[in-house]
Amino acid sequence: MSEHKVALVTGAKQGIGRAIALALAKDGFDVAINCRGEQSAAAGREVAAACMQYGVDADCFLADVSDFEACAAMVKRVATKWGRIDVLVNNAGITRDGLIARMSEEQYDAVIASNQKSVYNMMRQVVPLMMKQRDGRIINITSVAGVYGNAGQFNYSASKAAVIGMTKSAAKELGGRNITVNAIAPGFVDTDMTGKLPDKAKAAILERISLGRTGKPEDIAAAVAFLAGPGAAYITGQVLCVDGGIVM
Ligand code: NAP
Repeated sequence: MSEHKVALVTGAKQGIGRAIALALAKDGFDVAINCRGEQSAAAGREVAAACMQYGVDADCFLADVSDFEACAAMVKRVATKWGRIDVLVNNAGITRDGLIARMSEEQYDAVIASNQKSVYNMMRQVVPLMMKQRDGRIINITSVAGVYGNAGQFNYSASKAAVIGMTKSAAKELGGRNITVNAIAPGFVDTDMTGKLPDKAKAAILERISLGRTGKPEDIAAAVAFLAGPGAAYITGQVLCVDGGIVM
């Protein structure tokens, strides 16, 4: 059994997930860094090494989170290594943007699998452990697109809106076991995901950001660290928009 609390962060080899892993390590959590597969393992191990600089334990765990059995096996490995899981951050996500009139079934299904079903896959495995512990924090990374919609992101908005519904339902089910479930809805954050957007689209988004700048992965990680920490013990079922003032 680890002497530290243990956090599992999905999709943590880069971007927002990497920043979350580092923020939780800094706060004293042992961190399980989930990466999709062997091709991501080197990057995942680098994140684990960076986490260990904070004096905690960390390791990379491979699993495609859209795959139910892979999630079950990964959660088993994490629980075997550290004996507990105190914080689950469902961060992994993809975009396959396109207009509804031209969106393929593959585009739709891929986004639902990685962004929405993944949250079921992970919570289905982790919630029973947290119920036994009578303690846990679950933080689901959704998006402002799931709160207010976004042209060209029919599939992505659907997946992220569903995660908000899942968050609220689970918060109602699990409060009695001292498990909080919250969602964070980032706005526009500088990562590989947004890097592929055309400059014109980026400029249009920037105009809607009250604080006049795009977000950094660390802006989102700070909010996750708060929800995982002692100051957020009485917060559940909430959607926190960390977006510089897009949604208000
Ligand atoms: P990113 O740089 O593209 O990172 C996403 C990570 O998730 C990648 O490491 C990716 O691994 C992993 N991932 C995706 N599908 C996976 C799967 N099925 N199994 C395991 N890992 C998987 O994107 P990001 O901007 O950091 O996004 C992190 C989260 O924030 C996502 O849920 C995203 O929807 C959300 N978000 C981002 C923004 C933004 O502006 N950036 C705004 C709102 C919400 P691979 O590289 O192997 O695919």
